[in-house]
Amino acid sequence: HGKESGRGQCVRYKQFMQIEADERHILENDLRGALENGDLSVAYQSIVDANSEQVIGYEALLRWNHPTRGEISPAVFIPIAEEARLIGNIGNWVLRTACAQAKTWPDHVRLSVNVSALQVEGGGLANSIIGALAASGLSPERLELEVTESVFLDNHEKTDATLENLRSLGINLVLDDFGTGYSSLGYLRRASFSTIKIDRGFVKSATRGSTESLAIIRAIVTMAEELGMKTTAEGIESIREMDVMRDLGCTQLQGYLFSRPTETVSGRVDNRVSVADIVPFSNTELKRQ
Ligand code: C2E
Ligand code: MG
Ligand code: MG
Ligand code: MG
Repeated sequence: HGKESGRGQCVRYKQFMQIEADERHILENDLRGALENGDLSVAYQSIVDANSEQVIGYEALLRWNHPTRGEISPAVFIPIAEEARLIGNIGNWVLRTACAQAKTWPDHVRLSVNVSALQVEGGGLANSIIGALAASGLSPERLELEVTESVFLDNHEKTDATLENLRSLGINLVLDDFGTGYSSLGYLRRASFSTIKIDRGFVKSATRGSTESLAIIRAIVTMAEELGMKTTAEGIESIREMDVMRDLGCTQLQGYLFSRPTETVSGRVDNRVSVADIVPFSNTELKRQ
């Protein structure tokens, strides 16, 4: 029966791939108009100090509300934007929008913006940042750029110089999703990162008692301390995860436990997250999703 079902599977696979390609093509075309149509927005998720639980900053997360399909995840459309070479324009818009928003927050509250490897390679990123800072009046010390190790994969000679140039503007660099992919320690030497973000996969497995994950997080945290870097644990969804990551020495925490990304963060930023606020939230909102 192998041959027949094998061929059937092959046809189905081809159909699947065709649909995928068509789907990508449609989304790519829709994405071209999304900026002008006002379908893109920026949501902000708080990052809190692990000990005081004070909000120390917000991460800007891009949202696409498609006119007929509703919310589409950035995990889906960012790669399409990259492939269609739309990421430069979209990224520039995110920077300008988020910097203007952050300017309305209290002075000690920082802004983190994700930038993709293509933006770093593209050459226009520094100017885009300078423009966004100038237009908003936000001071560069309040801006952090989150990059993943994928910026290093192509081994562009320009990458180190570009990152160093960005640092020299006074902004901080964050290594996002650390623990996924290759996570070479060499990357940490390649640029002066102020913060390492520990991927939420580690947070999950460490909290479930994986001794390997616990050991790796301990090593990352110790190394970060020695190198004068902060560590942010992402994807904190429960009090237990918060306790585990704090006890491991992570200096900053982020996740649904504290807040989901929301589209409006006013000038009045809630600075104190008390456990009393957290418990009902984690018990109700979290379970539902
Ligand atoms: P990321 O930068 O690692 O962002 C963290 C993702 O985890 C976000 O997903 C966030 O909503 C989600 N998250 C936060 N807390 C929790 C939690 O407690 N539990 C769970 N399960 N998830 C949590 P989102 O918003 O869907 O973004 C996905 C990715 O898309 C981001 O991952 C980032 O790589 C990319 N992205 C988002 N906005 C932008 C942007 O403006 N530019 C670029 N280049 N990439 C972006
Ligand atoms: Mg990020
Ligand atoms: Mg991340
Ligand atoms: Mg991630």
